[in-house]
Amino acid sequence: MIVSKFERRGAQKKKELKKFLKKIEKKAPRGLIKTNAEVAKETWSEVDCLACANCCLKMTPTFKKVEIKRIAAHVGMTTKEYFDKYLEVDESNGDIVNKNTPCQHLNLKDNKCSIYEIRPADCRLFPHFERKDFNEVSYVIAENVPRCPATLVFVEKLKERLDSVQV
Ligand code: SF4
Ligand code: SF4
Repeated sequence: MIVSKFERRGAQKKKELKKFLKKIEKKAPRGLIKTNAEVAKETWSEVDCLACANCCLKMTPTFKKVEIKRIAAHVGMTTKEYFDKYLEVDESNGDIVNKNTPCQHLNLKDNKCSIYEIRPADCRLFPHFERKDFNEVSYVIAENVPRCPATLVFVEKLKERLDSVQV
């Protein structure tokens, strides 16, 4: 797994990158969305999710009710059966999340998602690089620096770019 290669660097840089993201949260630099799209492209040319899968192995997505219905039907279960077997409500915020990790849909042999085409929106949007409200969710990005290699590479590159034009 590539995570071990990145986790020490992520832990070391978390403070510095968190400070940088905080700055973005306070005031989004001009052209941030376009810059993020360019930096995301560079990042994905360097990081291979299929060699990692850490998000599916150790984190949980949040599920919308309509997604649960869709996924349950796809795997031949009723919504209730699926919920009782795999999901729970996070009491801290009311989110519906997986009970256990790794995710029940991760194929541990090849790190592929067995419901890729119909996966929850939360999985589709992770790790949030191209969100229009990027600056508002930058605290989430900061939390992901030590656990998502792509996020670490992305934020390092973004910082390098924006530092060079003095955010
Ligand atoms: S999104 Fe991040 S944590 Fe998930 S597989 Fe890709 S690099 Fe790993
Ligand atoms: S649904 Fe698929 S993409 Fe989402 S956490 Fe599970 S295995 Fe990963």
